[in-house]
Amino acid sequence: MADALELEVATPERQLVREEVTEVQLPGKDGYLGVLPGHAPLLSQLGIGYLTYVAAGRRKYLSVHSGFVEVLPDHVRVLADAAERAEEIDVERARRAAQRAQEELLNPNLGVDPAAAMAALMRAETRLGAAEKKTA
Ligand code: ATP
Repeated sequence: MADALELEVATPERQLVREEVTEVQLPGKDGYLGVLPGHAPLLSQLGIGYLTYVAAGRRKYLSVHSGFVEVLPDHVRVLADAAERAEEIDVERARRAAQRAQEELLNPNLGVDPAAAMAALMRAETRLGAAEKKTA
């Protein structure tokens, strides 16, 4: 069995990761999924949360926001609607987005769909959490 995986993470705009890794964790639709080399093939929707992986012995963090993931025994492909490496996250922007979403949730008069505001809050909080972790 191979002892590494190729991880590819892309959005419709850009490729963020194409690396040999030994471990990947990512948010599936129904909770976090851990992938090691030799994992059974699967295709899943991607949730909102942290994608972490280990490359050359170092753990790295991204925030990912919906999309799809394909797992093969030697390959993980992630196509996310949006994704950022922890170190490129604009913390002030994420704070403003979280505050805006909270105000929208608390004020139905603003007319914003609560599900959309909730998703925006989750994206912002995930970005803030990933930015804190950066590279271990
Ligand atoms: P905002 O309200 O701040 O735009 P959002 O959650 O609506 O946040 P998205 O629609 O998910 O933003 O993303 C739009 C683009 O901006 C994507 O390319 C995403 O990677 C990028 N992006 C969003 N927020 C941040 C951030 N805090 N730091 C860096 N890039 C971000």
